[in-house]
Formats: sequence, structure tokens, C-alpha cells
Amino acid sequence: MIVMKFGGTSVGDAARVGQAAAIVEAQPAPRAVVVSAASGVTNLLLDAARAAAVEGDELVAKLAADIRGKHHEIAAAIGDDQERAAALAALDQLHAALDDALADVARAGKLSPRDSDRTVATGEKAMSILLAGVLRSRGTPAVHVWADRVIATDDRHGHARPDRGQTRELAAQEVLPHLDAGATVVFTGFIGRAPDGSTTTLGRGGSDYSATLLGAALDADEVQIWTDVPGVLSADPRQVPDARVVPGISYDEAQELAHFGAKVLHPRTIRPAVSLGIPVRILSTFAPHEPGTLVTREAPGSSVKAVTALTNLLLLTIDVPELEDLAAASAAVFGALHGDRIEVVAASQASSRRRMTYVVDAAGHGGCARVGQRMREALEAADIESEVGCEEDVALVAAVGAGVAAAPHTLSQLLAVLGRAGIPVLSTNQQHSNVALTVAVPAKDSARAVLTLHDVFIGPQAASARGRRRRRADMLAESLRVG
Ligand code: ASP
Ligand code: MG
Repeated sequence: MIVMKFGGTSVGDAARVGQAAAIVEAQPAPRAVVVSAASGVTNLLLDAARAAAVEGDELVAKLAADIRGKHHEIAAAIGDDQERAAALAALDQLHAALDDALADVARAGKLSPRDSDRTVATGEKAMSILLAGVLRSRGTPAVHVWADRVIATDDRHGHARPDRGQTRELAAQEVLPHLDAGATVVFTGFIGRAPDGSTTTLGRGGSDYSATLLGAALDADEVQIWTDVPGVLSADPRQVPDARVVPGISYDEAQELAHFGAKVLHPRTIRPAVSLGIPVRILSTFAPHEPGTLVTREAPGSSVKAVTALTNLLLLTIDVPELEDLAAASAAVFGALHGDRIEVVAASQASSRRRMTYVVDAAGHGGCARVGQRMREALEAADIESEVGCEEDVALVAAVGAGVAAAPHTLSQLLAVLGRAGIPVLSTNQQHSNVALTVAVPAKDSARAVLTLHDVFIGPQAASARGRRRRRADMLAESLRVG
């Protein structure tokens, strides 16, 4: 069986829900379809929930009406009168439950993560009703199933973590019988069920994760992520006009790409597929006949497949004069960063120079003034003599592809290329996975570094294909701007 997931833009209005239904029907059954809320609806729901906590009824009522209106508009895609009436009745119940949830928030005068999840789940639930209705009205047997009966999680509302074993049991009870009966199951992305039965969410953008979780629970043959880009791209097309779709990548490469800023898959999304070796295909709803990108355990090619950049980072350098202090210093630094929830994006250590460098994502942590000071305090508290340096406006540029780190010349080639382009390299790192090389550069040089490295490692398009692909890149860049 296959699991197909449609993101918010792919079900953004009545026409697109109709297109999604046609794409679903073109795939062989049995199939489960995971849906996001229509684009914009999750944000509207969160706005409504926040407004309910602090503002008057008027704004809340307006937002709730906008949400209802959006869902009713999409219901127009249900051609059959009876099916439409049934869907509208189910939506009425759902919207009444939304009003109740918002009223509870208003009474409490504050928005708890639990109430937030209960509220925000409305978007995916509505979409599951709508797409199932559209499929049925086109003559395709379909049922909707809500993930707060299936995806078992802990009780960390807002960013719940799944329990895969229990999810497997629940999927066997709640989903399999429908598939066995020949129905297409339309399943809510993003949401799960806490041990006490309340609704949780997996974090923003969590529907892809839902798809691989459901795929793993059902031993799917393939998970398809239908989205608004034609696959994993070799670079951000806004930066690199020659960016192209990468036809095949490995789980490791996909994970590194996501980690280093490619927007297509969330890093944790791939994990459930990895353990069972389930192929994940990324496909475009706007070009459904294009092959997209296939993510599998072993992917062809051992060169650089994509170049990405993360910006807005800090570079911390810690010089430790006493060699024997290095381990304790790194423990102190990691402890302090972890304690402050600052993510270490890349780290490296040159023991000969007794210098450790950390590229960290310190957004919202007060920049170097605060973070540098925190590190000094942590090292002092651990009684370690050291010199702490910190640089702001740093970007981490990554060259991703199996074997890049293993190939001895890639790093020197990369440094030479950047050197010729006059781009200073602040630090270099080899990732443990051996599928990414990263260099920290000043943020102002990051776009140029990506462009240069893409040109050298991946190469310009063949002249004939170039114009066509350039136009496609322009279209892509445009769709990213809009989305
Ligand atoms: N609707 C949710 C969000 O906007 C989940 C998703 O789209 O994946 O974050
Ligand atoms: Mg989304």
C-alpha cells in the first residue's frame, strides 16, 4: 500500500482539492492520504486561539468566520449534492467544537498548549472531511480518519513525540479495516493523541512526519510527499538559476539537506521511513507527471548533489591553552548551549591549535554579547582557562552528497574555489555522516558562495536545457515567494 501526503498549498482551494483527488485516484489502491490544513488555516486558527485568550469576542468571531468560510468555499469542490450536504453537516459539528474550544480559552483567559492543540487540529480535521467528500462524490470510496485516534504521542502539547509501537497497534485497529474494505483513507496530518486521549500536535509543518509515521505503522511500500516544488533541488532556485531537481538521494543525504536548510523535508520526517527502508518520493501537485525525487537507503551517485546555506548564525571560537582541558571545555560549552536551548549546527575541533569552533543558531538569544558572555561564565565555572571569541552574521554553507567528506580532494577543492572568489572561510567542518562538508562564511558572502560552489560541483545546465530550466527556476522562485 502507499501513503500520499498533500501539503497546505496542494489543498489550498476547491480547484486544488479537486486536482489532489485526481492525483490520488491515479495511484493504485490500497492507499492512505494524509492531508494538511488548507494553506493559511493553521495560522488563522492560532490567531483565533491567541485572540480568544486576550482580546474581545469580536476578533475571535471574525477569525472563526473566516475559517468557516474557507472550508465552505472548498466544499464547493464536492460535486454530488448529498455528499456535499453530509460534509457540510460534519463541518458544522467541527466548527461548533472549535467555538467551544475558543470559548474555553476565553474563560481561562490564557492559552494553554493543550487548548492550542485542540483548537488548531480543526484545520486538518476539516480537510480530511473535505477531501474524503470530494473523492466519494467522484465515485471513489473514501473515509476520513482522525489521527487523534491513531498517532500515539506523549503529552508534550505543541511538539509531541510519537510512540511508534502503540501507533502501529492503533493503525491496525483504526485504519487497516477501511483499507481492507477497499476505501481510500483520508487521514489528518499534524495531530496525534496524548496518553490521556487529548489531541496533540507534532510541531509546525508536522504533516510530512505524520505521513512517514503512518507509512511505517502500515508497512507502506512507498510514502509520497505531494508538494508545491518538483522535488529536492540542488540549491535554492532564488539564489541559483541553474538549480535542478535531484532525482535520487539517500536517507542520510536527505537528513543532512534538511538539517542544512533545504526546505523540502523536515529532518525528523525521514526517520520512520529509514528504520523500515520505506522509499519516500517527493512530487509536485503542479507537475504530477514529473518524476520528482526518490529518497531511499542507497541512492546513486557519490558526488555533491546539492548546496545549501543557513544564515543568521553565530560562530563561537574557544581557545584552550591546556591540551588536557579540551574535553572538559567542550563539555562545559555543550552543557551551556544545551541549557540555553541554543542549537549547535556544526562543531569542529583542531587539537593542534587547541581551538574549538561552534556554529550555533542563536536566534532570539541576544547575539554575541549574551552568548559569548554565557560561554565565558560556563568555562569559568568549570575552572577552565580559555579565550572565547564570537562572530555574528555568519552563514553555514553545506555541500551535500554521499562521499563528499570521504573524497580527499573535495575539501581542498572547495576551499580553493572560495579562495579564488575572495570569500573568507571562517571555519570548516566535516559532518559525522560523511555526506556533508560545511564551511562558515560571512553571511554577506553566503549567496555568492552557494552560487560558486553549485557551479563548480554540480555545474551549469547544458545550454539547450538551460532556457527551459531557467524558466522553471523562475516559476519555482515565484511559487516560493508566494508560499
Ligand atoms: N498545518 C500544519 C502547519 O501549518 C501542519 C502542516 O502543514 O504540515 O504547520
Ligand atoms: Mg505545511
